[in-house]
Amino acid sequence: MDLALPETPGEPRRITILGATGSIGESTLDLVSRQPDAYSVEALTAYQNVPLLAKRAKRFGARLAVIGNSDLYTDLKENLAGTGIDVAAGAAAIAEAAARPADWIMAAIVGAAGLKPTLNAVRQGKIVALANKESLVCAGNLVHAEIQRCGATLLPVDSEHNAIFQVFDFEQPERVERIILTASGGPFRSWSQEAMAAATPAQAVAHPNWDMGAKISVDSATLMNKGLEVIEGWHLFPVEKDQISVVVHPQSVIHSMVEYVDGSTLAQMGSPDMRTPIAYTMAWPRRMATPSPKLDLTAIRSLTFHAPDRERFPALDLAYAALQEGGSAPAILNAANEVAVAAFLEHRIGFLEITEIVGETLTRMSGGSISSIEEVIAVDQEARNTAEDLIANLSK
Ligand code: NAD
Ligand code: MG
Repeated sequence: MDLALPETPGEPRRITILGATGSIGESTLDLVSRQPDAYSVEALTAYQNVPLLAKRAKRFGARLAVIGNSDLYTDLKENLAGTGIDVAAGAAAIAEAAARPADWIMAAIVGAAGLKPTLNAVRQGKIVALANKESLVCAGNLVHAEIQRCGATLLPVDSEHNAIFQVFDFEQPERVERIILTASGGPFRSWSQEAMAAATPAQAVAHPNWDMGAKISVDSATLMNKGLEVIEGWHLFPVEKDQISVVVHPQSVIHSMVEYVDGSTLAQMGSPDMRTPIAYTMAWPRRMATPSPKLDLTAIRSLTFHAPDRERFPALDLAYAALQEGGSAPAILNAANEVAVAAFLEHRIGFLEITEIVGETLTRMSGGSISSIEEVIAVDQEARNTAEDLIANLSK
């Protein structure tokens, strides 16, 4: 069976995975493991899980393994002693790993920490599979400029954007009425305000349909994930800001839709398994087989939809407002959210305070334009400091 698509027939395709110990990294490597001869792994990166990174680097014969936390260099070096696998550590080393020649790069670092590596991956002018939505949210214009300059192809991994990519008619974007992102509604979809106020991190990361990293799971619970995806969608597709809508669809079977002027609405459907959109980006422009369960619609029986509750989940409107404002607002939103989610996961703030911190950070900081990576990093840092101050004051 022809599952994979080497760049040159017979030659393994050279790939790099940024964020190789995460949920997306694991799903990607699962697909690689089913066709080991079709791929040659250039680099794998992670932030601090040395044993898992070392295990995966050995198992997949990576040429280079990079750990983001530089204190862990010796640890990784010892774990990989005698294997011939090169070892490096620190944020700059991860960005350098992304610049090593590869035919296909998975950008699956979580958060704005993925921005520089993603930009370096794009600069190779090859294919970048983008899971790291935060890099588009905080610096979409800069990522786009580099895509144009370097002739790279960016393929969306996020299931909603991958779905839209599959059904969007790029030859006549003016015939698109709107794109419709579906949202599962997260674990607190039907919880009262009081219950959400007391929600624990364990409850927030227990997503009903998807098995994901902790940060995106909390984002799904606040609906900030959908807000980030609205901004991501605006950067990925040629639509206006008011042509992006969100509908809650608890079964997560329809991954998103494109509505056309003639009344046709095209949807992409599938089981909630990230291996399907990842495989799409691996095989593009063709398709490859995956072990994702096929849809059994007669077993599912009903698909339901409702409008998001914007009062109980105000994060969505914060993201829409940041998109409308443009400039540095999305970067502020994203950075404040990263800080607030981390504080919630560390039991330093309550669940409802996540969105309050983000809103208050946006209110306190004046927006401006963003035209360089240095400016993005400065705004990101200022927003992190502001959010941390707000959190510190909450506990006083
Ligand atoms: P995860 O937490 O499971 O994994 C994150 C990866 O990034 C890990 O390998 C970790 O080591 C690395 N990392 C974390 N902080 C880092 C830092 N400061 N520097 C370098 N590396 C760092 O997250 P995930 O669920 O795999 O999500 C990864 C990205 O994909 C996120 O942007 C998320 O929004 C997006 N995404 C994930 C899913 C999903 O199903 N998991 C779906 C759609 C989009
Ligand atoms: Mg998504």
